[in-house]
Amino acid sequence: MEEWTSVFLDLCHDLQRRGFVSGSGGNVSFRFGDRLLITPSGRNLGAIRERDLIFLNRDGSWEGEGRPSKEWRMHLRCYCRDDVSVVIHVHSSYAVALSCLDLPDSDCAMAVYTPGYAIQVGNLPLLPYMVPGSEELADRVASVIDGRNSVLLANHGILAVGSSPERALNVVEEIEENARLHFILDGRGRPLGEEERKALSLLYR
Ligand SMILES: [Zn+2]
Repeated sequence: MEEWTSVFLDLCHDLQRRGFVSGSGGNVSFRFGDRLLITPSGRNLGAIRERDLIFLNRDGSWEGEGRPSKEWRMHLRCYCRDDVSVVIHVHSSYAVALSCLDLPDSDCAMAVYTPGYAIQVGNLPLLPYMVPGSEELADRVASVIDGRNSVLLANHGILAVGSSPERALNVVEEIEENARLHFILDGRGRPLGEEERKALSLLYR
């Protein structure tokens, strides 16, 4: 097995084992030369093996035993950015719960509570509900990902991109953890202020 295939499978299995996805939800892709390596449709990420992987071409055609994730359009569009090597899309519980609230600010779905979240994510934009797998969703995600590394999808989940599996996973983990804090604190938390966040960005830029 090629090293990247092994890294890909480990990431898929890890996401399922840690509860970031359930059932056949969630999907992952890696840039693989001119193509993408992407998870198959309708499969549990924890059960995927090497023979199940799909190679997706830029024109939407694919090679593999099954079909690519129905959310392949959304993945493909994220790779318009040259620095994106990995796309992770999950339906993790706290982030999905947050995405189901009637949130007043679509530019910042939740307050920023910790330095880790401030550095990795910051103001998380929220897109309105759109049919999973639709062209419309792929278009809107692409327009957001053009300028940042993550987005919350209403009544659906998280999408995060990165230059490596670790970087994309870090973003997913920070979003899920901050969403968990959002519900634990139940409005009683003190978010980091603008000056505190500015100091972090100067220190870690
Ligand atoms: Zn989804």
